[in-house]
Amino acid sequence: MREGGGSELRFEGVEGERTRKVRLKPINRQQMMLRPIEVDRLVPEDHEVRAIWEFVGRLDLSRYYEAIEVVEGEAGRPALNPHLMISLWIYAYSKGAGSAREISRLCEDDPAYQWMTGLESVNYHTLSDFRVKHKEGLDELFTQILGIMSAEGLISLERVMHDGTKVKACASADTFRREERIRAHLECARQQVEQMGDPLSSEEVSARVGKARQRAAREKQQRLVLALEELGKIRGAKLSQEEKQGARVSMTDPEARVMKQSDGGYAPSYNVQISTDAKEKVIVGIGVSQSGSDYGELVPAVDRVEANVGQEPGQVVVDGGFTSRDNILAMSERELDLIGSMGTGTSQSAGQMKRRGVDPSFYPEAFHYDGISDTYSCPAGKILRANGEEKRPGRTNYKYRACATDCQRCPFQQKCCPQNGPRSIVRGVDAPEVAAFIAKMETDEGKKIYRQRGPVAEFPNAWIKDKIGLRQFRLRGLVKVGMEVLWAALTYNIKQWIRLCWRPQWA
Ligand code: SF4
Repeated sequence: MREGGGSELRFEGVEGERTRKVRLKPINRQQMMLRPIEVDRLVPEDHEVRAIWEFVGRLDLSRYYEAIEVVEGEAGRPALNPHLMISLWIYAYSKGAGSAREISRLCEDDPAYQWMTGLESVNYHTLSDFRVKHKEGLDELFTQILGIMSAEGLISLERVMHDGTKVKACASADTFRREERIRAHLECARQQVEQMGDPLSSEEVSARVGKARQRAAREKQQRLVLALEELGKIRGAKLSQEEKQGARVSMTDPEARVMKQSDGGYAPSYNVQISTDAKEKVIVGIGVSQSGSDYGELVPAVDRVEANVGQEPGQVVVDGGFTSRDNILAMSERELDLIGSMGTGTSQSAGQMKRRGVDPSFYPEAFHYDGISDTYSCPAGKILRANGEEKRPGRTNYKYRACATDCQRCPFQQKCCPQNGPRSIVRGVDAPEVAAFIAKMETDEGKKIYRQRGPVAEFPNAWIKDKIGLRQFRLRGLVKVGMEVLWAALTYNIKQWIRLCWRPQWA
């Protein structure tokens, strides 16, 4: 075979004894071509980018418009429409694109983004700033979206499933330092800022680069100051002296905390709290906490739902991580029906007994309580008398103690109280609200409702992590990660609206 001349390629083939040339269509990559584009036909009628545009168009964006400084009749580049910026971020999040640079690139060559922008390019700095600039505006958007969904019958608030999930912070574990190291870094950062002087007078680099370097050095200094403040907060918590001395904080994201992950490992994270209405799995409340435990997050979560939707949920369903006696009392006080998982437990657990070296045959169950005399009798037949009480939220612990001489002379002493006799027993009595909760959770109805918790509560958690890709925050600091989860919740809810209300019209 050989190549033909000019722009046409020719090959020789053999057919029998005759040879003939074949002709192939040429590929010309040097040519220039102009093609008309009908922007509105870049995406089909039922494309979800149109649904997002339509939904955002229903929202009152006046707070965003008020913040725009460029006005008609005055100089300056026109601002990008907040309707466009909000729609871009929501569509991008729904496709798992969470970086401003990536969205800016997609605006250049993805038909859905091109349709949205009308073929205009959008600078990534503008996108990035917009995402974190309007905290109050974003809160208001979330409330407005819930108002629309509620009006369309997608929210009932009869039953809300609440759950927490850990999302990794934008900081690695090796950025955590103790106070001495942070102070040393802070001193270096201060000196660096002072030595930089005026970036406009530098001859080595351009003014733009100089300003960027100065801004980066200042931000580093601010982060280190914040790190020292966060260290103070950690030390203010109930920690032992040893824990206080060993307290460390991240120099990259000082507000992140090391938390246990679902895989059993530990990583710098934030605790994302999500309240989901059971009717159509709409997120009715979302927040971020620095606490690794969920116990203290239930009351703020109910407050958030009330603030967002204007009323308290009728019933809240939570897992064992939220079901404490304090929370049972708090929900009872608000006349809110709580469904959760809590073992009846004893005041002296098997674990405590084991740690004290008590033989299983002398665990509290082996002691007999007599309600008339308010005493216990031990396996050796001796009497344990009342010896004080301890009041805790939702429970009172009554203490009983054996006579010291009885235990000293007892042949079972090594099995019953090997560490420090005489033996004592604690009888816990739950408050009426807690006892009623435990009784409710033993009924078939209580168990049936609790079984619905997993599929509803864990669905938005999984969606946000899998579809939006929010397994690790892209932003740093409590306020900014709070905005990142709010964008994720907005996106999730609008996707639910598209599935339930918008999509059926095209079916
Ligand atoms: S050690 Fe004391 S409490 Fe235990 S069985 Fe003997 S007498 Fe009873």
